[in-house]
Amino acid sequence: MRLDLSEIGRAMVIEGIPASPGIVIGKAFIMDTQRPHVSHETISPGNVEREVEDFMAAVADTRGLLERLRAKLKDELGENHARMFDAHLMMLEDSMILDGTVKRIREKRCRASLALTETMGQIIKVMGRTDDEYLRDRIYDIKDIERRLLMQLLGRKDGCLDDLDAEVIIVAHDLPATVTASMRRERVKGFVTEVGGRTSHASIMARSLEIPAVVGTHSVTDAVDQGETVIVDGIMGVFVHGFDDAVLEYYRDRQKEYEEFEEQLLLVKDYPAVTRDGHKFELGANIELPEEADSAKRHGAEGIGLFRTEYLFIARDDIPSEDEQYEAYRGVVETMAPGSVIIRTLDVGGDKFVAGGEHEREANPYLGWRGIRYSLGQPNLFIRQLKAILRASAHGKARIMFPMVSSLNEIRDAKQVLEAARQQLIIEGKQFADPIDIGIMVETPAAVVLAEAFATEVDFFSIGSNDLIQYTLAVDRGNDRVAYLYDQYHPAVLRLIRDTVRAARKHKIWVGICGEMAGDPLAVLLLIGMGLDELSTSPLMLPEVKSIIRSTSYRSARKTLAKALEMTTGSEVRRHLEQIFKKRYPEISATEMIS
Ligand code: PEP
Ligand code: MG
Repeated sequence: MRLDLSEIGRAMVIEGIPASPGIVIGKAFIMDTQRPHVSHETISPGNVEREVEDFMAAVADTRGLLERLRAKLKDELGENHARMFDAHLMMLEDSMILDGTVKRIREKRCRASLALTETMGQIIKVMGRTDDEYLRDRIYDIKDIERRLLMQLLGRKDGCLDDLDAEVIIVAHDLPATVTASMRRERVKGFVTEVGGRTSHASIMARSLEIPAVVGTHSVTDAVDQGETVIVDGIMGVFVHGFDDAVLEYYRDRQKEYEEFEEQLLLVKDYPAVTRDGHKFELGANIELPEEADSAKRHGAEGIGLFRTEYLFIARDDIPSEDEQYEAYRGVVETMAPGSVIIRTLDVGGDKFVAGGEHEREANPYLGWRGIRYSLGQPNLFIRQLKAILRASAHGKARIMFPMVSSLNEIRDAKQVLEAARQQLIIEGKQFADPIDIGIMVETPAAVVLAEAFATEVDFFSIGSNDLIQYTLAVDRGNDRVAYLYDQYHPAVLRLIRDTVRAARKHKIWVGICGEMAGDPLAVLLLIGMGLDELSTSPLMLPEVKSIIRSTSYRSARKTLAKALEMTTGSEVRRHLEQIFKKRYPEISATEMIS
């Protein structure tokens, strides 16, 4: 749906990707996250050692700053967020960077800033050549630390937001991890970036901080002036500037409506997710970091339907220990008790990679060493994670889920590793729940076709529609060019979901859905009719999903679904759902408010 403000007034609208919902109006703070200009002058021999001292002082100051930021972030968001600074702090002790720069200053008699950029440039060049995806990703961190050191050396304010004294909307090309990590909610009202997608680090952070954000706008930093009043519309995914009073007025009304709408939705938070004719659903939340469990509860989640544990492994240089993982899982399990927490074992590969993991560059990563395949190929890492999950199960209701399963052998092999983890814990005298529920993500077409056989091996299914759509329709979920084919209303996808639920019902096992589809108001109309046990989605979407469930009847949802299943194209299904939605819930959808 495109946003057309021309009938309302004058405005410049830049389209992007909605990363975190909400509307915010405020002053733009254009962040200079790009590298500052460096001087090429030669210095006199007498000044060389002073230049070296200046460089070492800048390193020490930067370290001090990052340590302060780390401590602050630990207080505000917990150790997991804080840990993202560790890689940067380690770089400030790296002899390749420090000795390399000092050597250059002395040999070339150049400014520290130039010596630093040349040294970093060389390191980046070598890393850029490697096939190791993880190492190539670290280039980003190196550039960030280089920028920070240069800011110190050149006496420029860096982009860490510490000195903000007013509330702002950040406008940036990109937001590196160390910058998003220092965003404090009181000061940063929202942000817009030129790059990034819905699952990029900045977007995940925006949702966990609950601030509106738009990413992937391509051009935005040159379009606005520092301090200009701008609007971030995280519902439609647009950034608005250069507007007149009529548009401002319009957006103030939209913002108020949205806030009222949110408040209204939150009222249902403590009510059960039950249809008008008494059909009850469990509502779960998808989380990426342990700290998000609080937000899940606040938005009315009864449990965690998907804990994507890979985020504990990403943005760091080592693999988290069993104890560290145990603490993280235990925290979530305790927060959600008596609700259950589905802890998915590491789902790396595809577009996510971990440090210390043996990942080679693959031509088709989504069809490669991913999910359960990776864990089974790294038994030590797998057993460590399973032990940690098992130990957390002693503190509440933890359930284990394996991702990207496509064959029965994978389930059996994974259960064997789980048994080995149990045996080790028994020897170590550690507590764990026995039995514990074991489930799989149903996200490959093979898992659907063999769902009846798989159902005899596990206690539950959770349908991963994000991947199920990509693998069924042969459409890369991250590829813009084919995004128009990525269709959750495609009848083939709907039939596979129906078949999965049928197989689960036949074998009397629990079945939920945890892909983005479960948070899409239109799709929810169909999912209610599917007869799933649970819907799990981002905490922010839960109140809306619950409202839809509470204001519909299971009987009518089954009719809606039956009609959709007779259709042969996704667009037909979508139109069918839109008609029903407009008729029945004119007040519910946030996106509808804008149209
Ligand atoms: C899915 O594939 O639907 C899913 C929930 O998992 P992820 O998005 O982490 O691949
Ligand atoms: Mg998946």
